[in-house]
Amino acid sequence: MAGNHHQLVLSRNMANSPAIGIDLGTSFSCVGVLHHGRVEIIENDHGNRLTPSYIAFTDTERLVGDAAKNQVAINPTNTLFDVKRLIGRKFEDPTVQSDMKHWPFEVVSDDGKAKLRVDYKGEKKYFLPEEISSMVLSKMKEIAEAFLGKTVTDAVITVPAWFNNSQRQATKDAGTISGMNILRIINEPTAAAIAYGWDKKDGGERNVLIVDFGGGTFNVTIASIDDGVLIVKSTAGDSHLGGEDFDNRMVEYFIHEFKRKHKKDMRDNKRAVRRLRTACEKAKKTLSSSTQASIEIDSLYDGIDFFTSITRARFEELNADLFRRTLEPVERALLDANMDEVGVQDIVLVGGSSRIPRVQKLLRNFFNGQELKQGINPDEAVAYGAALQAAILHGDRSQGVPNILLVDVAPLSLGIETPGGVMTSIIKRNSIIPKSLTKTFTTYEDNQSSFPIHVYEGERALTKDNNLLGKFELTGIPPEPKGVPKIEVTFDIDVNSILKVTAADQSTGKKTKITITINHKGRLSKEEIDRMVNDAEKYKQEDEQQKKRMTAKNQLESYSFNMMTTSIRDENIKGKISEEDKKTILDNCNAIIAWVDSNQLAKMEEYEHKQKELEGVCNPIITKLYQRCI
Ligand code: ADP
Ligand code: MG
Repeated sequence: MAGNHHQLVLSRNMANSPAIGIDLGTSFSCVGVLHHGRVEIIENDHGNRLTPSYIAFTDTERLVGDAAKNQVAINPTNTLFDVKRLIGRKFEDPTVQSDMKHWPFEVVSDDGKAKLRVDYKGEKKYFLPEEISSMVLSKMKEIAEAFLGKTVTDAVITVPAWFNNSQRQATKDAGTISGMNILRIINEPTAAAIAYGWDKKDGGERNVLIVDFGGGTFNVTIASIDDGVLIVKSTAGDSHLGGEDFDNRMVEYFIHEFKRKHKKDMRDNKRAVRRLRTACEKAKKTLSSSTQASIEIDSLYDGIDFFTSITRARFEELNADLFRRTLEPVERALLDANMDEVGVQDIVLVGGSSRIPRVQKLLRNFFNGQELKQGINPDEAVAYGAALQAAILHGDRSQGVPNILLVDVAPLSLGIETPGGVMTSIIKRNSIIPKSLTKTFTTYEDNQSSFPIHVYEGERALTKDNNLLGKFELTGIPPEPKGVPKIEVTFDIDVNSILKVTAADQSTGKKTKITITINHKGRLSKEEIDRMVNDAEKYKQEDEQQKKRMTAKNQLESYSFNMMTTSIRDENIKGKISEEDKKTILDNCNAIIAWVDSNQLAKMEEYEHKQKELEGVCNPIITKLYQRCI
């Protein structure tokens, strides 16, 4: 009976497992869930609400998040980050080409796709950005599962508003590879708007400006919200401006100071610079709430301790030009949206770097002293909104959860190429999604038997300036003079802003229909995704194995140390243990510790076996003595 009851509870838990919202950031990721009627931003195993989007590979293990970022100094070529800059892009993409120059890890081309190369357990391994992102997503899933105490499968993931079709699709694929069911891909600024409850406000159209200042990117979005529909009016940004730039400036400043004080240049010592950088990031955060921060690093370089401090004023001076650069995209976004400062009703700050007082002051001044919204932690607002969206899509009817949320629009126009390389839009930019539209085309030549369909996204008049999403051909058109056949091309854009294209020949009443999911280079096939799902599972098992191995090793070591201390110092044993027994214990334990030192890579079973042996020697002696005590 008890067993049955237990099972019943388990299955109910599975059914109740909530959906989570994940902000998959360039530098940090964050996960939230609606729990007991309120959104919880969940701490990871390090007690942090933000998890670095870092994955590292070593000779023995794979590390994710904080553990990966913490060892970047000693393992720079196998520690991957910034993968969001690669996802859904081709190797030849100019931004990939220029970003690559700054990464310590290697990016290679594989059939036009960008792949990341690392050494893992003594072997060369190649990963697609989707796979690396899936590892970050798995970590976020696990963080949520540890908090909820149950398996999580459904998730909403956020992407920048300017992400194109292939970047969105690749992000969704990453979610699938991580073993999750991706309910929806939503825009980061839309998630922030949801977090602030703008979806519920009525009273006509309001224009909102969302400033997202993160670790390496600065994004501005102007959107109008009316009756539950959010239209992105413009986006602008600086793809290489963020918190890490401020860290760099501070690092430079202190390298200089160190040189002045100690006549030594630490620049070439990567480990020293990395330790300095970590301290600088911490100091920077302190300076958002205090006017002074101190740096204390023992034995930073050449055995010299580095104890110093920095004021907020100095920090602001160091970064003055960078801070000022934030206003350019704001101006551009206003211009593109055909608005001025006065037309903006709400300004919301998201992203960790928006906590910097000077940045806030610049923005406030720009908007003539208008209040900036920051009621929700700026680096958590996106995950917060994603969690709400996830709960609604999952059918959660808790109190305080609205029924419908903001509706998104297509970020870019979608169309096909017509003669002369002209872009003919079928779905216009800012159309409310999901949407399905059909346009009729015809042949350009007599007896033309096939019709090429080249699908593009973008706003430019000529397709060569837009982004090719994919192409296919409709064949088998019966011979007719040009202009007679009727070819219907249907564009179907789903709630994730992901597109399906269908073509049908209606000329003779006989329909030929092809449906493709845009399948350009870089898009993964079902088979590839399946393989990666299996790989992901394999890596996870290896991680588990590694964890068990480390536990066995730790247990063996601590048992050995424990026995040694017991035999020497335990009150119940002192004076009672014979010198011979004591020597037996000490010798055996010392031998084991020496063995562990020189066998760091032994298997779990070997550690367990050694432990049994040692227990066989020590336990009888200790037990005997304890019994004598009683
Ligand atoms: P992402 O760019 O991945 O979306 P976040 O929005 O989480 O990342 O922003 C991360 C950046 O915010 C990091 O550079 C971090 O140092 C910075 N940051 C976090 N908290 C603060 C703070 N209190 N003051 C200044 N910068 C901060
Ligand atoms: Mg972000």
